[in-house]
Amino acid sequence: MNIEEMDLEQLSDEICKCTLCKLAVERTKAVPGEGNIKAKLMLIGEGPGADEDRTGMPFVGKAGELLTKILSAVNISREEVYITNVVKCRPPGNRDPLPDEMNACWPYLARQIELIKPNIILALGRIAATYLLSLEKFSITKEHGKVYHFSNTTILIPVYHPSYLLRNPSKEVGSPKSQMWEDIQKVKELYDSL
Ligand code: URA
Repeated sequence: MNIEEMDLEQLSDEICKCTLCKLAVERTKAVPGEGNIKAKLMLIGEGPGADEDRTGMPFVGKAGELLTKILSAVNISREEVYITNVVKCRPPGNRDPLPDEMNACWPYLARQIELIKPNIILALGRIAATYLLSLEKFSITKEHGKVYHFSNTTILIPVYHPSYLLRNPSKEVGSPKSQMWEDIQKVKELYDSL
């Protein structure tokens, strides 16, 4: 194990013991994230749901299954990427994470990004995209698939959250699902060019 791997593991241990915000009170397990420390692609959702809270793993429920399918449709495996969330503990009843909760959790995500140094961040859904881009207002319907500057070494692409796609299953031309298919192919092209 190299220094970065040890740092990432230590960070995960810290996250599992964290009590910086009120989400710690009701969690079963914190969900630090999982994947490849050398990942060129990092996926960031908004926060764990019930299945993730139970298992301590990110994106393992229905939305996670769809995410895995979307990635494998363009030949990207979960093992080669890193998957995490803006907040590491489940917001009760799956409500949106609040600004103070996201801010309390930010140092953990910032450190993960620093250790992994991804070339591409996929922001899964409006909440993650809005927070990561420090925007006041953001329309995922209008802005999905666009390339944003995140840092000097990292671009950020917002895409629909898989849960949103589960609620909007139509595959018709112009539907969120068909747009996601276009976006993920663009991501794959960029990914292959790295
Ligand atoms: N939704 C998220 O945003 N993150 C998860 O880990 C699971 C569902």
